Amino acid sequence: MQILDGKALAQKIEKNVASEVVKLKENSGRTPGLAVILVGQDPASQAYVSMKKKACDRVGFYSVSHEMPEDISQDAIENTIMMMNQNPNIDGILVQLPLPPQIDTTKILELVDPAKDVDGFHPYNVGRLVTNLDGFVPCTPLGVMKLLEEYNIDVKGKNCCVVGASNIVGKPMANLLLNADATVEICHIFTDDLKKHTLQADIILVGVGVINLIKEDMIKEGAVVIDIGINRAKNGKLVGDVDFEHVAPRCSYITPVPGGVGPMTIAMLLSNTLKAAKINAGKNT
Ligand code: NAD
Repeated sequence: MQILDGKALAQKIEKNVASEVVKLKENSGRTPGLAVILVGQDPASQAYVSMKKKACDRVGFYSVSHEMPEDISQDAIENTIMMMNQNPNIDGILVQLPLPPQIDTTKILELVDPAKDVDGFHPYNVGRLVTNLDGFVPCTPLGVMKLLEEYNIDVKGKNCCVVGASNIVGKPMANLLLNADATVEICHIFTDDLKKHTLQADIILVGVGVINLIKEDMIKEGAVVIDIGINRAKNGKLVGDVDFEHVAPRCSYITPVPGGVGPMTIAMLLSNTLKAAKINAGKNT
């Protein structure tokens, strides 16, 4: 069994982004800029935004965060997004989800300029992913694909079982695998007999938010297991959706939590923002 070390790969990608930033500044005078919109006081969202901000600082991006109270109006968020869409110093806009219940999240995500949609949540970019055209791809599933590539795990023709079907994790994960010629099955909360499906898989990718959902008797010997889940255990530790201790000995490869997919998500945010900045630099020269 080999560990897929997302932390190490993320550091390698960060270094590469940092040197690309230096080159971009020299060649075009542009510094990649990321705007983050954070609504409310949710500790997990605050922690993610702070990690993203620190990562931007490490690679030399300009970043700005717009922190708004929980009872903010739809109009106020929309006005901020429209300002960021117009701001030439901003290449990427990220709206930290979830938004409070009074806010129409779909409307907010649709307002982000698709050329600055570094999270890949705008329907324009979703459509480009589904049709296998270049665009912005959600950071978490993109990070998983990079991790598989790094370890030469070819998904072509493999049976892949994606567990979890959200718009930000499961669905784009399944599309990326399909674009890479895998045979893809998507399971979710209403899937009958999950084990029947996971047992067929060469590669299991789980992003659900349920501690120990995937147990040792649910995977075939030698499978690759990608744990996208991030949960807080009763003892305060971060854990995934896979019973790592018992599942790992049966796998060929497995991601740990923490240190697997999580760091790759941030690395992909940097890489998507750099991509947007390069496109903008091209437009202005
Ligand atoms: P979500 O709640 O939007 O979606 C959860 C999905 O899991 C749904 O499709 C649901 O049908 C499915 N599901 C729920 N219970 C299930 C069960 N018992 N069996 C099978 N399917 C079940 O959540 P999300 O935003 O997609 O996040 C999922 C997990 O991934 C969470 O733990 C989240 O913290 C984590 N996450 C990690 C990263 C990262 O960087 N590693 C990024 C985003 C989300």
